[in-house]
Amino acid sequence: MPVRTALLSVSDKTGLVPFARALADRGVTLLSSGGTARSLADAGIPVETVENYTGSPEVMDGRVKTLHPRVHGGILSRGERDRGDLERLGAREIDLVVVNLYPFERVAQSSGSSHEEIVENIDIGGPSMVRSAAKNHARVTIVCDPQDYERILAELAAHGDVSQAVRSELAAKAFAHTAAYDAAISGYLSSRQADGSREPFPRYLTLPYERAYSLRYGENPHQKGAFYVERGAAAGSLARAESLGAGGKELSFNNLVDVEAALDAVREFDAPAAVVVKHTNPCGVAEADSLVAAYREAREADAVSAFGGIVALNRPVDADTAAALAETFLECIVAPSFEPRALEVLRAKKNLRLLATGAWLGADHEALQYKRVGGGLVVQSRDASAKGEVENGKVVSRRAPTAEELRGLSFGWRVCKHVKSNAIVLTRGTRTVGVGAGQMSRVISVQIACEKAGDGARGTVLSSDAFFPFPDGVEAAAKAGITAIAQPGGSVKDPDVIAAADALGLAMVFTGVRHFRH
Ligand code: 5GP
Repeated sequence: MPVRTALLSVSDKTGLVPFARALADRGVTLLSSGGTARSLADAGIPVETVENYTGSPEVMDGRVKTLHPRVHGGILSRGERDRGDLERLGAREIDLVVVNLYPFERVAQSSGSSHEEIVENIDIGGPSMVRSAAKNHARVTIVCDPQDYERILAELAAHGDVSQAVRSELAAKAFAHTAAYDAAISGYLSSRQADGSREPFPRYLTLPYERAYSLRYGENPHQKGAFYVERGAAAGSLARAESLGAGGKELSFNNLVDVEAALDAVREFDAPAAVVVKHTNPCGVAEADSLVAAYREAREADAVSAFGGIVALNRPVDADTAAALAETFLECIVAPSFEPRALEVLRAKKNLRLLATGAWLGADHEALQYKRVGGGLVVQSRDASAKGEVENGKVVSRRAPTAEELRGLSFGWRVCKHVKSNAIVLTRGTRTVGVGAGQMSRVISVQIACEKAGDGARGTVLSSDAFFPFPDGVEAAAKAGITAIAQPGGSVKDPDVIAAADALGLAMVFTGVRHFRH
């Protein structure tokens, strides 16, 4: 069925003129609503207004433009069997519908918008046409994304028509588009408070996701998996990162989870920093004057675990850092960008995935966190930057930490936030020496961190993501030669824990903030 008549009604006029011109050049008759018709006429493209076609003027400042039986009959007609009805309506068959909607999400997110403006940006006629056209995809093509214009022209050039497969696919995309649009509207309306402020957790939460790609498998080879990205994901987020690896090999389920953990951890630091992650836990983290120094220190912190690891860096990767990275087998490297010489070195490594985030999100970026639990979803705000929490903490021991101990605790505390609980992190200056992660008892985490550090534990400082319920963790730390501790405090046994620190000569700071990570 060739495309004879197209209806165009778009808010986002990106790519409109060349697309419409190409359609007109193919002999397609164009119908358009007010603003769209003006854009086309201004470009010298022949177009008939919807007003002229329906004989019904646009009214109520555009609230009613295309809501007319000649429009919807023309779109919904099933061909031969509806010809009589079409004639009675005085309507023509419309074969291609090009619509994108009022920018509700942008207006609702902009801090300067009034409620009235936001409501006025609820598009009515647009979604109706999208739905009519998508329903009738057996005959009609619906295009609601300017990125699809080229594809439509290619289809028309190849076979004078848009294939049924493409029409069906675009119909599914169109319903996802109107669903996401309605989700944004109900999210806005249900988060709006009586005083006009918005509460962060709307009553109705419908999250619009699109499958980016299918994964080879899930967490294990017998599980299936896919990666979905959020509509409107922030620039700098993992969903928006660009894959630069030579083989173009896509990330696995576990890679994606680990990269996110590594990226989240490295965002914590301002100076050049590197994080090596294994199984979602940092095994080595360092901050230094240069990126290459930070990476070497992070890797050497636990060189055994670093093998096959995921590395996140908070600076563009230079040639020196690339050379150091190439010395070890790694699964994936993520950074804001890669210098051309660095790319050359790293692309020579087979199977090494490289991801560039482009924009850089800081530790305080605001994105809600979601975790599915049987039949539901728990949602929370992010655990924002832990910067300054040690410095602003309270010294509870008789001995105050030295400047060097404080430097180590300030760094270790921010690492500890990114380690699965019970988290214990030993640091010397701005590098980790031992990490105890994911244990069910805190004292065992202390023992593991000390064992990891070996002789290196002596003279280090310790950060603990939550309080010590008993003095035993402090005693184990002292035995390994640790000299200072940062922890939130708040245990009923705090007096005993502090007494143990004093008896063993340790300095202790209570931050008053807990950083569980489960
Ligand atoms: P134009 O710039 O062509 O005047 O308007 C295009 C926009 O109007 C599109 O975003 C389209 O979705 C929307 N639209 C088309 N028909 C109607 C209608 O009847 N009512 C409302 N509220 N919006 C419409």
